[in-house]
Amino acid sequence: MLKDSELIQIRRDLHKIPELGFQEVKTQAYLLSIINELPQEHITVETWKTGIFVKVEGQDPKKTIGYRTDIDGLPLTEETRYPYASTHEGQMHACGHDFHMTIALAALESLAHQPADNHIVFMFQPAEEGPGGAEPMLRSEPMKRFKPDVIFALHIAPELPAGVVSSRPGLLFANTSELFIDLKGQGGHAAYPHLTKDMIVAGSFLVTQLQQIVARRVDPLDSAVITVGKITSGSVQNIIAEQARLEGTIRTMSPQAMDRVKVEIEKIVAGIEIAHDCSATIDYGSNYYQVENNPDYVDKFAAIAKDSGVTYREASAAMTGEDFGYLLKEIPGFMFWLGVDSQSGLHTSHLAPKEEALAIGARLVVNGLRQL
Ligand SMILES: [Zn+2]
Ligand SMILES: [Zn+2]
Repeated sequence: MLKDSELIQIRRDLHKIPELGFQEVKTQAYLLSIINELPQEHITVETWKTGIFVKVEGQDPKKTIGYRTDIDGLPLTEETRYPYASTHEGQMHACGHDFHMTIALAALESLAHQPADNHIVFMFQPAEEGPGGAEPMLRSEPMKRFKPDVIFALHIAPELPAGVVSSRPGLLFANTSELFIDLKGQGGHAAYPHLTKDMIVAGSFLVTQLQQIVARRVDPLDSAVITVGKITSGSVQNIIAEQARLEGTIRTMSPQAMDRVKVEIEKIVAGIEIAHDCSATIDYGSNYYQVENNPDYVDKFAAIAKDSGVTYREASAAMTGEDFGYLLKEIPGFMFWLGVDSQSGLHTSHLAPKEEALAIGARLVVNGLRQL
């Protein structure tokens, strides 16, 4: 097992070089530099785009256990002032994927020296934050050779103390979809509204009407969220706007609710086109399938966590999204939260996970891979 100081060094090296989805070139090279130094006797390494598959042959295999880490950073300017802060301007490991990679490397190092009974496959997956790497990696050619029978992954949890992990059987993360709606009408002089089709008015109606979907179209016991986070329209105070763009996100607790919400959005947008005499286009951008944990594996994992001296807590489901859901759609398994005790949350410029959680996570993942 790597020493605590080695884990911290790897994490800091990776933290300095965050890269966006499918641009993780330096990250991939760094990961390979560590992987290539391991004993190669039992391992097979194959790259896929900016990702990597590594298989460790088991000693007495009954199945293949998969472990996935995401490897990308976010388009965010770091404000931590750490000496090992991001050296890539405007990019940061603000979702803890530097932690995730370090823990995966630590587990791989342990297994490469001393293989488990079962085969183990590590997936270093690009582009979790967008446009989504899990689904294409699942459909990739190398996956045919590496496909595991069970798979798990972790995500850091800033709100939990180090030494605590949590998960739950069933739904952990929501179905998510981006939402982009473009409206096009007829601009003109602010004093002659009757000669124009005002897209600020149309866009405002649309935002209000979208709220009705959650309130009146989705089963209250099957929650949904529609958030419009950004509107762009208009150029100056005395010109009626010709275009409007709404950008938002949809979150639901079931894939059926996601389908329902989209149908309702399309109906409302069609109504806006008629009522406001404009044309509209809808783009759902990237979509993530829900993270649905297998109850039996969650139970086994909870027991392994307790045996590893880690406190296990039952999590509640969250409306956040994770493209790991695509892997769990086809391969049974689970995701768990690893406590890292940071005042600042995920996707913030001050995220500061406690590095003592690295060794805790690494030990737990190794035990999971050896015992599941
Ligand atoms: Zn994230
Ligand atoms: Zn993340």
